[in-house]
Amino acid sequence: MKIFTSKSALSEFLNELREQEKSIGFVPTMGALHEGHLSLIDIARRQSDVVVCSIFVNPTQFNDPADLEKYPRPVDADIEKLRGADVDILFLPSVEEMYEPGESWHLDLGYLENVLEGKIRPGHYQGVTQVVKKFFDIVKPDVAFFGQKDFQQVLILRSMVKMLNIPVKLVMCPIKREEDGLALSSRNIHLSSSERHNALALSASLNNARDHFSVKSLDELKSEAIAFLSASEGVELDYFEIYDAETLQPATSKDVGSIVALVAAKVGETRLIDNILLK
Ligand code: AMP
Repeated sequence: MKIFTSKSALSEFLNELREQEKSIGFVPTMGALHEGHLSLIDIARRQSDVVVCSIFVNPTQFNDPADLEKYPRPVDADIEKLRGADVDILFLPSVEEMYEPGESWHLDLGYLENVLEGKIRPGHYQGVTQVVKKFFDIVKPDVAFFGQKDFQQVLILRSMVKMLNIPVKLVMCPIKREEDGLALSSRNIHLSSSERHNALALSASLNNARDHFSVKSLDELKSEAIAFLSASEGVELDYFEIYDAETLQPATSKDVGSIVALVAAKVGETRLIDNILLK
């Protein structure tokens, strides 16, 4: 695995590969890698000749400095995992390599930015689109792989790619879970064993909605989930919503093409998100 910290050296190397007609798959991450990240890499490896992975804890997408500060950064262990996963290229830039001082960015993301995570974490998706656009400019991938775990992020990036005519295909990869249902997340590391147990309420609420989707109304599914989560020990609910999976508008009927249930909650000091496609 080749490791680059400089964007110009990476670009140069990738240009040579492109001249050899190699297709480039890209998996951006913030590190603290787990099986969820590795599953994206696995999918990328099957769909592209060269797999580029990045590790960059992007400061512009954190609206809470304490959250940025405590974000785990086990770089050496991550590098070993990426070697084990047969990644061809790791891009590991510094903040200074990615950003000029005082740089600004704004993309009109419209409605999508003002719901769910966008509403609770103002500016988050500006930071996400800012850094992903930079990565796309540097790596120029043919295909980029993102997890369904961050469902709203995928819709926002699809919208950006369309708005800015970026020549990249986006692939949404399924959520990897622990055997008991907990969605893998770099933040799970912060959970104590009792919090980890309490966190199972999130996936349980989603599974329950899926299991009763055919027999209950959308309103019933949502209110039962909210009642369950509100009564769950150690869980401070931010939202549980059932939305049209294409638009993230509230699903008003089961007739829309695809429907997603999304949940976010704080468990102790750790904020977790999860979702499931109901249709
Ligand atoms: P992060 O390092 O949290 O920014 O995540 C990097 C990529 O991995 C994003 O596209 C995430 O959606 C994806 N990802 C995170 N957790 C999971 C998971 N449990 N299963 C699949 N993909 C995931």
